[in-house]
Order: sequence, then C-alpha cells, then structure tokens
Amino acid sequence: MHELSLAQALVDTAVRHSAGLSAGRIVRLDVRVGVLAGVDVESLTFCFELASRDTPAEGAELRVEVAPAVGRCRACGVERTLETSSILPGWTSFDPEAVGSCVCGEQAFELVGGHELVLMQMELAGDQSSGSGSA
Ligand SMILES: [Zn+2]
Repeated sequence: MHELSLAQALVDTAVRHSAGLSAGRIVRLDVRVGVLAGVDVESLTFCFELASRDTPAEGAELRVEVAPAVGRCRACGVERTLETSSILPGWTSFDPEAVGSCVCGEQAFELVGGHELVLMQMELAGDQSSGSGSA
C-alpha cells in the first residue's frame, strides 16, 4: 500500500529529527500533502499509527494539511494556485486553456507543487519552545 510506505518514511524522518534534539516522545506531526500526491488522508493516518508503533512517535497526533496544486510561470517565475479541475488525468499536466495566461502575458506555466508530502513541523514532549498557541 502506497500510504504505508509514506507513513513509514514520515516516522523515520520524525524519529531521526527528534533523536538529534535529545527530546523524548513525539506528540504531534504537522504534515503537508499535495492534492495531487494521490494520498488518502484517512488511510495515511491509519498507516501512521501502524508505522509508529514501538517508536518515539507512537501515539503522536498526525495533522494533515492538504496543499493545492501550484503552477509556476517559466517566463517570470510567478506562482499560481491551480484549480484541480484544470489538472489533466494522470496528475502530471494541466489544461493550459483552463489555467490561462500569467500576469506577464505568457502562457508557460509548469506544474511545480501538489505532489509533495512534507513534514512541516513536529511537537515533542517537554518542548515548550514551539507551542503553536492551540488550546
Ligand atoms: Zn509570467
């Protein structure tokens, strides 16, 4: 299963980072998943629970933020959020007509975001410095 290997990679990354911080347990992971990554969030959460068993990340909360697809203009570098409806099947290209022209007049967008799965931030037990103010 696709999500299981992703979850395992997440746990590996988190554990490696926390080891370098001489902290104890991992309490929360904030993850950003591109809308085109083909990741089922529920399935990822479930697999994360499995993959984190017997690691410092066991029992950690997995918060998933879904990131939009992003196109970047080859001419001027401006980035723009792309509607998923303008993305063509296969999730690797988009309909130029639907996306339209850049502010610079060129119609030269390339797909640069939307496939990522990134560990944005994590919260460790006993770590008071990175509180996000959530109550
Ligand atoms: Zn442009």
